Amino acid sequence: MPDGSVREVAKGTTPLDVAMSISPRLAAAVVVARVRPLAAEEPTSQNRDVGHPDSRPGDEAEMYGAETAGERLVDLTAPLMEDVQLELLKESDEAALKVVRHSAAHVMATAILELFPETKLGHGPATDAGFFYDVYRETPFSDADLAAIEARMAEVVARDEKFVREEETREKGLEDYKAQGEFMKVQFIERFTNPGDEISLYKNGGFTDFCRGPHVPSTGRVKAFKVTSVAGAYWLGDEKNQQLQRIYGTAYFSAKELDAHFKRLEEIKARDHRVLGKQLDLFSIQEVAGSGLIFWHPKGGLIRKTMEDWMRDECIRRGYEMVYTPHIMRRELWKISGHEGFYAENMYPPMELDDAEYRLKPMNCPGHILIYKNSPKSYRDLPVRYAELGNVYRYERSGTMHGLLRVRGFTQDDAHIFCTPGQIEDEVVACIDFAQSVLTTFGFAEFKVELSTWDKNDAKNYTGSEENWERAIGSLKSALDRKGIPFRTIAGEAAFYGPKIDIKLVDVLGRMWQLSTVQFDFNLPARFGLEYKGEDGEMHQPVMVHRALFGSVERFFGVLIEHYAGAFPMWLAPVQVGLVPISSDKHLEYAEKVKARLEAAGLRVELDARNEKMNAKIREFTLAKVPFVLIMGDKEAASDSVSVRTRGKGDEGGVALEVFVERAVGLVKSQAAGL
Ligand SMILES: [Zn+2]
Ligand SMILES: [Zn+2]
Repeated sequence: MPDGSVREVAKGTTPLDVAMSISPRLAAAVVVARVRPLAAEEPTSQNRDVGHPDSRPGDEAEMYGAETAGERLVDLTAPLMEDVQLELLKESDEAALKVVRHSAAHVMATAILELFPETKLGHGPATDAGFFYDVYRETPFSDADLAAIEARMAEVVARDEKFVREEETREKGLEDYKAQGEFMKVQFIERFTNPGDEISLYKNGGFTDFCRGPHVPSTGRVKAFKVTSVAGAYWLGDEKNQQLQRIYGTAYFSAKELDAHFKRLEEIKARDHRVLGKQLDLFSIQEVAGSGLIFWHPKGGLIRKTMEDWMRDECIRRGYEMVYTPHIMRRELWKISGHEGFYAENMYPPMELDDAEYRLKPMNCPGHILIYKNSPKSYRDLPVRYAELGNVYRYERSGTMHGLLRVRGFTQDDAHIFCTPGQIEDEVVACIDFAQSVLTTFGFAEFKVELSTWDKNDAKNYTGSEENWERAIGSLKSALDRKGIPFRTIAGEAAFYGPKIDIKLVDVLGRMWQLSTVQFDFNLPARFGLEYKGEDGEMHQPVMVHRALFGSVERFFGVLIEHYAGAFPMWLAPVQVGLVPISSDKHLEYAEKVKARLEAAGLRVELDARNEKMNAKIREFTLAKVPFVLIMGDKEAASDSVSVRTRGKGDEGGVALEVFVERAVGLVKSQAAGL
């Protein structure tokens, strides 16, 4: 047992028996068992995996987590036939949730067959967000059908049918399924089991499914579920095959968790940067110009300017030099850099000009390298840090573009650092420090760090010597250690030309976004023959690091919009203060005086002088998520004050104009994330 205690039970005792012997309350709370055989023998036939239809490769189907050293999940009713470490999983466990979801897929299949007996079944795995079942039926399922299926599922759950495991010969299974015309089940058995195998079937009530399991003890344990949607899919992902219908649902341990899930989905929808981008007039994508190409409107443009100003100032403060490089360059250059070879499919086709062929740049690195190479360098010049907000163009397949997150043209806050091997570690520490500063400045508290290293056993597929790799990986690791940053190492994930650190930020909804990268490169310095004169008077090859912190300015903006739900903090807000005179003629003069005062203090102000009702004007500023709205009437004009409405707080009452100015300027200066 996990607590270290040892229990001796008769062979054939089930995990449920063990749970019962501890307490009936525990027995009622456990969902599934995890066993790890103590002897490293072959699993017994009883518990042996007999091929799982849920493990179709290339599908979004999910296994129940990694199974290590014979460790596996089993039904609570599976007889224990050997000495095992036994863990009883309760409802707090992630693996248990997947078992509940997969069991819900069986419940859904039961309901579908009861209502639409002509339906043929594919498979029904659990996913990260719920579960689905692929089915074949000529008539499409309507929304009303889905509602009926959900209602029938509630009946199946109420019947609390036990999930009973049975085994039979593969031949018998094939024969039965063939007789029933269950072509997908036949295919799964043929594909995932071998002649002579036993196959496992799970029965609940009158429904039987070919499945490896495990499941919850009975349908009554599927307590909170919802059928969500139906989508088309082709059998085995091949469009020459039958068109299947994939019915999606989700399940949780409790109605409370299910509600929270749908609230979160609503929240994600409400924060969609494509919707907010339109609503707040921040940016657009226009078909006439092409997909994946972003038009920054004045308000979005202002936020971008603020982001870029901050980035440029910070680069210069941290010892970078700003450079600019051309958008198109000779094809010859891309051959030297190697992009023509390994990156060609992401590049736009060459343009034939009078002197040569040119290509749009997908990366800024070769440009920065040419600047480095343009004059001889000595160790005294290093490190050289070139930074550019460089526009790059990369081909993305049509249909894969997604708002600001996946585009064909974007701006990288790109930099390349050329240094001596002895300088690497300090440079990496400085990059990480810079990345942290980006995240905290723009309001992200949490982030995760991954270190991608090479696979030493596969050294021939990487460029650069073992010594270089080990030193680079070592310096990345000790840089992270020096900063006290926990990280996950992923062996074999590095690009062929060097190891890297990825920094993923966590947004307000807990979603992870890949943004900053610090990437070593052993390839380009060699390809371009980069050099510097060392202290020893000899020529050496510099170490090169690529690093981007926003990643793409477009993408970072998309993440910012969703993180703040369009309610940008004061320093980023395109309009910081909205002015509303109560009467558009009587109080306009004072409102204009206030506007001039705020603008003189450097604030971005919009005065609504239209002959509209005060409340309509306040509502418009509120919808535009303007941080402050100031209302001015006789009282305010007479006392040089303003009545303040603060975003998210409402009416804060009257305050002297100078007091407000001080507060507003303070918020901008401090780059406070709160407002
Ligand atoms: Zn199953
Ligand atoms: Zn680069």
